[in-house]
Amino acid sequence: MVDLHVHSTHSDGTLTPTQLVEEAMSAGLHALALTDHDTVSGNDEFLSAGRACGLCVIAGVEISAQFTPPEGDGVRDDEMHILGYFPQWSPSTAGHLAPLADIRAARNERNPKIVARLQALGCDVQYEEVIAHAGNEVVGRPHIAAVLVEKGYAKDSQEAFSRFLAKDAPAYVPKAILPQREAVELIARAGGIPVLAHPKLLGISNPRELERVLVELIEVGLRGIEAYYSTHQPADVECYLRLAERYGLLVTGGSDYHGGNKPRIQLGRGFGTLQVPDRCAQMLAELVT
Ligand SMILES: [Zn+2]
Ligand SMILES: [Zn+2]
Repeated sequence: MVDLHVHSTHSDGTLTPTQLVEEAMSAGLHALALTDHDTVSGNDEFLSAGRACGLCVIAGVEISAQFTPPEGDGVRDDEMHILGYFPQWSPSTAGHLAPLADIRAARNERNPKIVARLQALGCDVQYEEVIAHAGNEVVGRPHIAAVLVEKGYAKDSQEAFSRFLAKDAPAYVPKAILPQREAVELIARAGGIPVLAHPKLLGISNPRELERVLVELIEVGLRGIEAYYSTHQPADVECYLRLAERYGLLVTGGSDYHGGNKPRIQLGRGFGTLQVPDRCAQMLAELVT
């Protein structure tokens, strides 16, 4: 078994890259890939830790991209995650991925900007209140909506979105993250293998619609699909394996392990039943780009 989707302390995981390697060794995994959100800063440590103990390690990243669904309603905050794998990692690879720093900055700036707009519109909303509402969750528009409802500026979350927060509403601030196609292109230009992460989380129920999304991304360089994932049911996996075969895509899989930040997900095993076959890692590791 292997795990090709894990997060370290370089994004929102709780184990360092070295600790992840140690954990993978004791779990008996045969290969591990590090895929931190929008950063590749953990890869050097990860690769040397892996090589030191003979584990097959693959450098990677998980980029948050703006997902425009075929029939978007503009209200949902749609994100698509694109995994990038770099079987031949080098310092110049990291150089190619420098634009990721802008994504990280934009993520931190967006919510305060939305709150500033609300204040300019006369709403008495403080960013601290939004943070308090989010608790341990990553701050997002739903938390801002909750504060707006609490303070009587909207009767429910839906109205808070349509009056203030949705696209085209007055407090809307665009995400300034990469559109889906550009995320794929960025990874490909850096010599990596772009893979669509956890397709189920896109919330597309119609397989034909997912197929349309895949075709669009394949045109710009998508080469794989994460068929095995902690929350994928056997029927989902079947469906993704069929699509992979139809379009000649690589099949990957992983748990999305975050350590103590998502304590129910185990490295390599997900919620207990995940099994990512060794050949997924072998195919990636053998790719010469
Ligand atoms: Zn993800
Ligand atoms: Zn992830």
